Amino acid sequence: MWYSDVTLTSLTQYARRPGATQSSLLQSARPAAPEEKRNVESEEKKPLPAPKKKRKKKHGITANLSGTRYEVIRLVCEKCKFDICKEDDPNSYVPSYFEDNTYLIWSDSFVSADRITELKPFQRINHFPGMVEVTRKDCLARNMMKIQRHHADEFNFVPKTWILPADFSLLQNYAKDLKAKKKYKTFIVKPANGAQGHGIQLFRNAEKIPPTEHFIVQEYIDKPLLLEGYKFDLRIYVLVTSCDPLRIFIFNDGLVRMSTDKYVNPADPNLSNLYMHLTNYSVNKHNEFYQKGDSVETGSKRSIRFLNEYLRKNDFDTVLLWRRIYDMVVKTLLVAQPHLLHAYRMCRPGAPAGSDSVCFEVLGFDVLIDRKLNPWLLEINRSPSFGTDEKIDFDIKSALIEDTVRLLNIKLSDKRRNYFAQKAEAQKRLFRTTKRNEADMTEIEKKKQSIEKRKEELREQLARVRKATAREDFENRNAGRFRRIFPSEDKLKQQKYVNIMSSIFGIVMSGRAPAMQKEIQKVYNNQFREEDILDLIAECEADEKDGKLGSKAARGPKPLSSMPISLPSPPTEDEFDEEEEEEDAEYTSPPGSPGLNRRESRPPSTKSRPGSLRPDSRVSNDASSLCNSRPNSGVSSMRSRPTSNMSAVNSRSKSLSRLHGKQSIMQRSLIDDNFLITVVKEREDELTKKTLQALNDMRIKFPGKTDQEAELILDTLHENWKFHKPRIASYWLVKLDSIKRRKVIDIVRSNVRAVLQRIWRISDVDNLRLYRIFTRVFNRLLWSHGQGLWNCFSTTSQNGSWETIFSKSSENICENEFNCCRRIVQLCRDCLLIVYQFAAEAKSSSQQNSETTELSSAGTLSSRDKASSALMAPHNTQTLSQRYSKLYPRADTTAT
Ligand code: ADP
Repeated sequence: MWYSDVTLTSLTQYARRPGATQSSLLQSARPAAPEEKRNVESEEKKPLPAPKKKRKKKHGITANLSGTRYEVIRLVCEKCKFDICKEDDPNSYVPSYFEDNTYLIWSDSFVSADRITELKPFQRINHFPGMVEVTRKDCLARNMMKIQRHHADEFNFVPKTWILPADFSLLQNYAKDLKAKKKYKTFIVKPANGAQGHGIQLFRNAEKIPPTEHFIVQEYIDKPLLLEGYKFDLRIYVLVTSCDPLRIFIFNDGLVRMSTDKYVNPADPNLSNLYMHLTNYSVNKHNEFYQKGDSVETGSKRSIRFLNEYLRKNDFDTVLLWRRIYDMVVKTLLVAQPHLLHAYRMCRPGAPAGSDSVCFEVLGFDVLIDRKLNPWLLEINRSPSFGTDEKIDFDIKSALIEDTVRLLNIKLSDKRRNYFAQKAEAQKRLFRTTKRNEADMTEIEKKKQSIEKRKEELREQLARVRKATAREDFENRNAGRFRRIFPSEDKLKQQKYVNIMSSIFGIVMSGRAPAMQKEIQKVYNNQFREEDILDLIAECEADEKDGKLGSKAARGPKPLSSMPISLPSPPTEDEFDEEEEEEDAEYTSPPGSPGLNRRESRPPSTKSRPGSLRPDSRVSNDASSLCNSRPNSGVSSMRSRPTSNMSAVNSRSKSLSRLHGKQSIMQRSLIDDNFLITVVKEREDELTKKTLQALNDMRIKFPGKTDQEAELILDTLHENWKFHKPRIASYWLVKLDSIKRRKVIDIVRSNVRAVLQRIWRISDVDNLRLYRIFTRVFNRLLWSHGQGLWNCFSTTSQNGSWETIFSKSSENICENEFNCCRRIVQLCRDCLLIVYQFAAEAKSSSQQNSETTELSSAGTLSSRDKASSALMAPHNTQTLSQRYSKLYPRADTTAT
């Protein structure tokens, strides 16, 4: 039911709270007022012209809330003056997610990587891809255990956990040990992907726990801190506003959820009393002793503020408690960070470092406190309930959402900024100089190039530092009841977190870790301040001016390394505003009134336009010659415009120039845009064709075998498909975990990147549209724990096929791009088959070895494990992915 958890009365009550906007739901439920009734009656008597529809004032920022059932989110968005867009039209091909003015998207459920990829840079969505690595109980346990092995002392806030059925024997051994030592512990068994207390059971004797699939077992924390004799847990709200770089905030209030039967130590007779051992609201609300509280100090649900007060009064050290909780939250998200960052960058390749994140997430941390004031992390909810059954819910959750929305800093101008950034990027790409061979350069040219490069790096760094300062400043002013806990203000603590993060990347990413670790130090420990960078830039400029580069470099036309001076620079935001206004004026002007004249009759703008074009009557001639010319000739024809003409133009009356200025800028801008688009498109088409050729020439190499042998292996696997199918399925879908699956796909990905770098002659392929398309395909193949690639082996199923990512998308994919994707899917399929066969052969050879050497196989990895661990092993002399890193062109069609 859509609004099942919000009763009409409670809503009415809360909607009338100061500041809350009355919802349309309430309006429709409200009985008609006497005046309205009278109107209705009179309308029945004499037909009146249709009443004018009251047009709601549009603010321009739209929130799409069709994916959430929580009314409180809508109320807050209305209060923040967002327009709420209509529910998705089921018949529409393009979901309203992608409507151009949708700035905020809120969804209760999982959002696919594809959707995140397709978002425009100014849009925000309330989930991160990859967050599942800490929000599913089994994933959280697995990731924590991995890190605990290296940092046992730092990560001791999760109860000891076993994932069934894999850890069943470990659990039994542990139980036997306990028995031998005559110790008794209680265990809690929960569904791996459960929620709201469903399916939870307690056991005193671990030997009685069945090896059920998709369950986890945890040591039961049997000495919880009690509140008035009841067990309780905390729902703590944590906001992650970005993962690249990571920024974490904690809300200074939350819920204290109490059990409804007084707590006694677990013993056989009370194990099944869930009202005593579980603190879920969804469980306890069914108990007759559940108390709905009218204030935050009574009832079975209280506020964290109340708890703090209570603890203080009872001489508990609340400062220590919260320090521990902050630490726990940060460390948990550091565990998630490699997954978040990887998944985010896959979805948003080419997003400039430090750019606004399109994702944010409000997480609900469930935390138990024991009698020694240690917090224990029970689980993390990626869609915590925003139901407002009780007043306390509304008070806390509406404040939480309001502060969240404020911190997101959504502005109407974000869309325009994005437009300019994209345009500038396209121009930069088009006019990028091809790298010259160093051998052909003179010493001076080399030096000049290195200074230019250094300057470029410094400018980027400066932009990053400025952006970070501005962001921090904004956060400090708008955090509301949030407090930022990462990056930490405390320098020592921050250094410690950075070291932990670095180490976690080392553990999780093995081979690729060093580059990431370097980046982490740079991003989170950057000691450079704005002044330092400005000084360094000034030094570079002084080097240039000092004549160190010789007089030759200073004279003559500049190389085409940046935008040519005579091309119009993108209009400033103000100009854009004016243009928009004028367009609006044209739309609203009465028919027949010439829009141009209206423009001319406007008072001339006195604003100076840095870098804008002088009005020029020859614009249209230039433009037509431009459209027919090749890019270079077009550019040079503009650049070589004689200065005498320029001065002639300058000498025209200022009023005339003002009169025509805007018009010519707009025309030129339009023509230049068209020109750019055509040239870029043609060049991209040609390079896409070349890419397709190169991809078709690629083959997967089997270590130690020839091409023909590798092809034979593939053929044999296909011929005996019935036999291999279940084995390959279990290898890919069960045996390999998400990281190893990604490694297999990365074998193809890294080679595809290399091809793109070679053909498109750029090192940073992340910015390429084609690579972004490929990324969506790779993501699709890894989708649903590898199911995406597995579906590609099916000859019948069209539904699960990767191609649907494009049919559902608003983006147009041309035939060659599509064929490239098809070839990539083929390569990934082959790659899986070869990796599988390699693992199988390794297994049989190790069996033979073990037979001949009569070694006991006990305690050694199975050879499949060896093969898959070869994909992961950090320091293997030659990991499988290294071995497969050569996908080479066929000898007969060697590289163009
Ligand atoms: P669910 O997602 O189904 O709510 P949780 O892991 O949050 O599952 O557990 C539900 C409740 O069970 C918690 O609110 C807590 O009261 C209790 N609980 C869970 N794990 C433990 C544990 N290890 N020790 C003590 N109590 C626990």
